[in-house]
Amino acid sequence: MMTVSELRGIQADLPLKTVAYDGTGEGLDPSPGDEKVFFFDIDNCLYDIETGISDMMTERIAAYGERIGIPKDKVADLTLGYYKSYGLAVRGFIMHHDIDPNHYDLHVDQSLPLETILKPDLNIRKMLLRLNMKKWAFTNANRPHAEKVLRLLGIHDLFDGLTYCDYSQPGFSCKPELNAYYRAMGDANVKRPELCYFVDDSPKNLNAARQLGWNTIHVVGSKGTVPESFVNDSHLVIRTIDELPSIIPSLFEKV
Ligand SMILES: [Mg+2]
Repeated sequence: MMTVSELRGIQADLPLKTVAYDGTGEGLDPSPGDEKVFFFDIDNCLYDIETGISDMMTERIAAYGERIGIPKDKVADLTLGYYKSYGLAVRGFIMHHDIDPNHYDLHVDQSLPLETILKPDLNIRKMLLRLNMKKWAFTNANRPHAEKVLRLLGIHDLFDGLTYCDYSQPGFSCKPELNAYYRAMGDANVKRPELCYFVDDSPKNLNAARQLGWNTIHVVGSKGTVPESFVNDSHLVIRTIDELPSIIPSLFEKV
C-alpha cells in the first residue's frame, strides 16, 4: 500500500523529461487553494479492454477507410499510421481524405453496440463516490460516445466535467499532444500539475502527462501484466480501474 507522498517519491525518482509550459502563460503558477483533480480516460480504462469494444472500433475504422476508397490491403497500415501520427485515425481521414466528421461518427463511434456490452458497474460507482476530489473525464472520443459510455456504466452523474474531442473543429487537439492536457487543466480549472491525477490505458498518453508533472496510473487490462513494484515507465500500474484504491488508498475515503 502506498501513500500519495510515497507515490510522488517513487515518481520523482523515475526518469522524467520535463518541458516548459508553453500555453497561455498563466496556467501553471502555483496558487494556494487549488483543488486536486482526478482525470479519467474512458475507453479501455473505465471498462476493461477484454470487452472487445476496442477490436470492434478497429474493425469499423478499417471498414470506414475502405468505404472512402482506401484499398483493402492498405487500410490497416494506413489507419494505424494515422493513429500513431495524429493520436486518432479520424484526424488522418479528415486531413488526407477530406471526410465529413459527422458521417464518420455515425458509421464508426455511433455504430458500436455499446448497449449490449456495457452494464452499470456498481463497483466503480462505489469507488468514485469514495474518491474525495474533483473527477474529470478526459477522452479522445467525441462527446456523444463519451457520454454514452459513462451513462451505460451508471457513473455519468459522478463526474464534474468532460474534456473530449470535437471532430468537427478543424485542428482539434487530442492526447498525447500537450495542448490537450492544457485544455483539460483549463476545463477542470486546475493550475498546478502536481494536483492532477490521471489514469489511462495508453502509455503515450501517460508519458505526456508525466512530462507535465501529473501523477499517472496505467491501466493494463485484466489480462495485462503488473510488475512486482507496481511501477512501470514512471507510472503506477493496475489491471483494472477498481484497483485504484488499493494502490493509492490515501485518496479514498474509508468504507
Ligand atoms: Mg483509452
